[in-house]
Amino acid sequence: MTADSPATPRDDNSGGEPAPKYQCIRCTGPFAAVPETSLGRPPGPQGYHLEAVKPGIFWISAGGYDTMFIVTEQGVIVIDAPPALRSMLVPAIQSVTSQPVTHVIYSHSHFDHIGAADIYPADAVRIAQENTATTLQQYQDHRRPLPTITFVEEHTLEVGGSRLELRYRGNIHQPGNIFIYESRQKVLMLVDVIFPGWVPFRNLAVANDVHEYLRAHDLVLTYDFDVMVCGHLTRHGTRADVETQREYVQQLRTASRKALATVRIEEVATRTGTENIWALMNGYFEDAVDAVTRDMLTTPTSDGRLWTERLGGADVWTPHHAFSMIQALRVENPD
Ligand SMILES: [Zn+2]
Repeated sequence: MTADSPATPRDDNSGGEPAPKYQCIRCTGPFAAVPETSLGRPPGPQGYHLEAVKPGIFWISAGGYDTMFIVTEQGVIVIDAPPALRSMLVPAIQSVTSQPVTHVIYSHSHFDHIGAADIYPADAVRIAQENTATTLQQYQDHRRPLPTITFVEEHTLEVGGSRLELRYRGNIHQPGNIFIYESRQKVLMLVDVIFPGWVPFRNLAVANDVHEYLRAHDLVLTYDFDVMVCGHLTRHGTRADVETQREYVQQLRTASRKALATVRIEEVATRTGTENIWALMNGYFEDAVDAVTRDMLTTPTSDGRLWTERLGGADVWTPHHAFSMIQALRVENPD
C-alpha cells in the first residue's frame, strides 16, 4: 500500500497535508490487496469451476457469477441461469449426469441471474415467488420464460429424493427474492445478499430497502447450514462469512448514525454558500460519506484487523455503502 492509497489514513491534526478523501467514485487505485481468503476458486480452462459441495449438489462458478444444481434420481433441479454462464450450464450439468433438467427455480427476476433461463427445456417446471412472476409478466422477455408454479410465502419442492424449501421473507434485496434451502444437506442459497470474502456489491447490493437488507443477515443465521451459495464471486460461503458481513453492515449503520449527528451543514455552507442548494447538500453528503468511510476503514474490527484486511473491495465500495446507509437513515427510517 502506498502513502497515496485511499485506504491509508493520515492524522487529521498533523498540521500538514489535509486528511485524504475516501471517495472512490473516481478512484483508479492503487487499491488495497484482496485478502487471500477472498480469492476462492478461479474458473478452469473450460471457463467455469464445478464442484460437488454435497452429494448430488453441484456449485458452478464462472468468477463473477455462480449458481447451483441438484442431480436427483428423477431429473435435475437447477436454480437460476446467469447470462455469464449461458454457454456453460448445460455442458456442466451433462458432465455429471445424463438426467434432463426437469425443474428450474428462479431466485428473483433480475436479468443478470436468470437472463439465460431459455437454455432449459421448454417443458421444465419453473418455480418462482409471485412478485417475481408479476415482474416477469410485465417484461415479456423470451429469455426469462414465465414460471409455471408460483407461491406467496413458501413452497416445498420434492423431486427424486431431494427436498428443497423455498421461502419468501420480505424485500431484502428485491421483492420476490427467496431463500432456497436443502435442510438435510445443510445447503442454503440466497442471491445478492451475502458476498463471501468481499464487501457487498455497490450500494448495499442495490437493495430496495436498506433496513430490510440488514435484517436479512439475521434471517440467514436462523438457518442451519454449512454451505451457502450466494450468486456472485469465486467461492461459496459459510456461517462465518455471514457473521463477518453482518458485523460490517452493523458497523456501517453505527458509523452513519454518528456522521449524521456530527456533520454540520452550517460548516459545509461556509465552503459552498447557500444559494446553490444542490451544491450545499452534495457537500454535506460528501462530508458524511468521508466521515463514515474513515471510521470504517481505520477502526480495527472485532478480530483486530481492518476491513481492508478481511474483505475484498472494502476500500472500493465502502463510500458507496456509506451513501446508501446515510440516505436510508435520513429519509426511510430516521429513528
Ligand atoms: Zn439481484
